[in-house]
Formats: sequence, structure tokens, C-alpha cells
Amino acid sequence: MTLKNSDITVGILGLQGAFHKHQKMLERLSVNPIIIRYPEEIEKCQGIILPGGESTTMTKLLKSMALFEPLQKYNGPMFGTCAGAILLSTGCDDPRVDHLAKIPVQTSRNAFGRQIESFVAPIQIKDFDSDFQGVFIRAPQFEKIIGTIEVLGRLNQQPVFLKYGNVLVSSFHPELTDDIRIHQYFLNLIQ
Ligand code: GLN
Repeated sequence: MTLKNSDITVGILGLQGAFHKHQKMLERLSVNPIIIRYPEEIEKCQGIILPGGESTTMTKLLKSMALFEPLQKYNGPMFGTCAGAILLSTGCDDPRVDHLAKIPVQTSRNAFGRQIESFVAPIQIKDFDSDFQGVFIRAPQFEKIIGTIEVLGRLNQQPVFLKYGNVLVSSFHPELTDDIRIHQYFLNLIQ
């Protein structure tokens, strides 16, 4: 049975970063989001979004708010954007970050440049009939991508949007555009 968007509960990790923008996106898609700040909220979610921010700071907050372990145990669909993608990966180039290891890729922090080098670029995404405008802000690059990972989007040759089972990661910020297609794609995974 396919669920309607309005029947789905999606959690957005509300520690820092652009979580309000994800909330607005989901509301436009008729989903009622929960902003996750307490461990007991995690099990109520049929899917979870980890927004951007600062993966080092988010590591500290996840630990101090007792959210790291319950998120590690969570098996539902997850979508990480930018810093959220770094947290979902298995490792990165910064020992201060702890990883939830939901997708077997390595990430390289800030590899697309510093804040001042932020940019918007058209991304070709599999099954989308037109480009998606990717907003890149101190964005990570994905490395050591193994065959069981599906590359859904690339910027030039560089993979920037990946799927592994029910886990999605993007280097860029789809919540900072008006384009709802990537959020709907995540909802389709839940349905
Ligand atoms: N550079 C940040 C990090 O490494 C991510 C930036 C972002 O989420 N926009 O955590």
C-alpha cells in the first residue's frame, strides 16, 4: 500500500543548520515534520533528514544530547545533506567527526571550497526530466564509491548525490531551492 505524504512522519534533526528550510519543504509536500531534539522522537519517524551545518559541532551535539546511538540503531530511510551526508558516511578526513556509517563512502570536508567559494550549479539527476540547481556551501566530496552505491547525480564528473538502499546523501542543499523534487524522491523511498 502506498502512503500519502500526509500519512508520513518525517523527522528533521534540529540541532543546528538549515533545518527550518527542510521543514518548509516537507510542509509544502503536505508532510508533518517532527524536529528531533530528544532520543524518544527518533522511533516515531518513518524517515529522518540530517541537515547541513558543521559536522564537527553536530558530532558534539549528537553525543551530548544522547542522539548518536539511537540514530546509529535507526534502520529507516535517512537523507543527509552536506554536513548530514558527512555524518551518514563511514569516514572523513577530520578525526573530530564521528560517523553513523549508513552508506559506505568516505567524505572529504569542504572539498568544493570555502564559504566564499559557494556556488550554484545545474546537476543532472537520474530520472529527472530537467537539471536540478545544486547549492554548494563548503560542500563535501564523496570518495571511494563502491559498486552497490547508486550515483544519482553528478557535477561534471564528480558524484554529488548518492543512494545506498534506503539512504540518500547529497553534497548540495536541495532545501535552499524552490524545487521539491529531491524531497519528494526521499518521500517515495519511505512510501
Ligand atoms: N563544511 C561543513 C562540514 O564539514 C558542511 C557545510 C554545510 O553543511 N553546508 O561539516
